[in-house]
Amino acid sequence: MILLEGQGLTRKFGGIVAVNDVSFAVSQGEVRGLIGPNGAGKTTLVGMISGRTVPSHGRVMFKGRDITALKSWARVGLGIVYTFQVTSIYRNLTTYENVALAAQRRGRPANAMAALARVGLAQDAKRLAGVLPYGHQRLLEVAMALALEPELLILDEPTQGLAPAEITAFCDLVRGVAQTATVLLIEHNLKVVLELAQKITVMDQGRILTEGTPTEIEQHPAVQRAYLGQ
Ligand code: ATP
Repeated sequence: MILLEGQGLTRKFGGIVAVNDVSFAVSQGEVRGLIGPNGAGKTTLVGMISGRTVPSHGRVMFKGRDITALKSWARVGLGIVYTFQVTSIYRNLTTYENVALAAQRRGRPANAMAALARVGLAQDAKRLAGVLPYGHQRLLEVAMALALEPELLILDEPTQGLAPAEITAFCDLVRGVAQTATVLLIEHNLKVVLELAQKITVMDQGRILTEGTPTEIEQHPAVQRAYLGQ
């Protein structure tokens, strides 16, 4: 079943066409990678999916329903959660309070401890969020998103700033999340995307350059040039 669909999505900023007539479909339960060079339009595209950015043209469909006109909070209610929407960690609250608050502000009852446990932060429940190492703050953001029980979880460069061991743990976490949710992963670390995604969409200059399995994408000449220096 197709969970999410973009139909002819376009977004212009003045004279710049950040996203240019992009159509795609993500199946339920899939981990989809979204990659591309800086300025390719990835953030703008997921902004249109999450409701932060209004399209100039085109439609966003979720479970066959046109959600283009819905505000981002209404999309959270449908189960579309973008980690960027919950990045506002309160440094002077505990990790537990941050997760509970994220859910409460969106009118969702939450099992904050369960969400913390899923990301491996249960033992840090009573610690102030501000004293957590950077990598753990990123995991806290994921816990805040998980507490909203997403059907579609959009992760925007989640491994940025993580140490190699933390990246390994993060990949395990995403695989766990993918048991119950569809994941859209914007990621600069090609190794992480190749490992986690079933299908990868490559954007360049506002358009989809190519789409395929990790094996197909790894062998694509443009991807080799851009990422592997070949
Ligand atoms: P990065 O990997 O650097 O985050 P990206 O693929 O996410 O890049 P976008 O941030 O979507 O790319 O940007 C696509 C293009 O749109 C860029 O040329 C950018 O400068 C432009 N752009 C994005 N947001 C705005 C805005 N609010 N106002 C003007 N131009 C914008």
